[in-house]
Amino acid sequence: MGRYTGPACKICRRVAMKLFLKGDRCYMAKCPIETGRPAPGQHGARRSKLSDYGTQLREKQRLRKTYGMQEAQFRVFFERAQRARGVTGEKLLQSLELRLDNLVYRLGFAPSRRAARQMVNHGHIAVNGHKATIASMTLKSGDKVQVRDQKQAREYAAKFMDIAESRGLVKWVALDKSNFEGAVLHVPSRDEIAPEISEQLIVELYSK
Ligand code: SF4
Repeated sequence: MGRYTGPACKICRRVAMKLFLKGDRCYMAKCPIETGRPAPGQHGARRSKLSDYGTQLREKQRLRKTYGMQEAQFRVFFERAQRARGVTGEKLLQSLELRLDNLVYRLGFAPSRRAARQMVNHGHIAVNGHKATIASMTLKSGDKVQVRDQKQAREYAAKFMDIAESRGLVKWVALDKSNFEGAVLHVPSRDEIAPEISEQLIVELYSK
């Protein structure tokens, strides 16, 4: 199945949660979730009670769509988290947060994860001094992410870094704006990631 290229807000409306897919608009009062627009479709306004399975599925969709991933790739991340030592749900969240495209977004080099992925795909990002083009690459503590020395890419990043900084960066990254560079200070702990997600529901869903 191909990548979803339709309206981002429809995804949030479908899962009834702000997933911050669009950059600036997500922080404005006109965000459709803020204005209370119902789920898309003819019966979107109907409120039917979700089954246990429906609740688990929706939680998984929320997390998967937040990071803009296809089901198969999300599943790979889950299986890796299952094999890792520690709590599966927490490991999953950590590995998602440590994706390169997410770091580019977290550091404010791009206004959304979708835009961040574009930057990586187009070769504008370097990791530890080397060009990196794989958006799903997992980073680790101490890794450095930089917008490569390309006029257009740096001009683009400069537009968003200040905005991201004024909203507050996550605590586990450091940003050196003058060098268009950021670093992973430590692997984020559970309470530093997506407090609104109940990852246990996702573990239950995949454990059936
Ligand atoms: Fe649209 Fe962003 Fe609001 Fe989601 S959070 S509905 S992407 S404006």
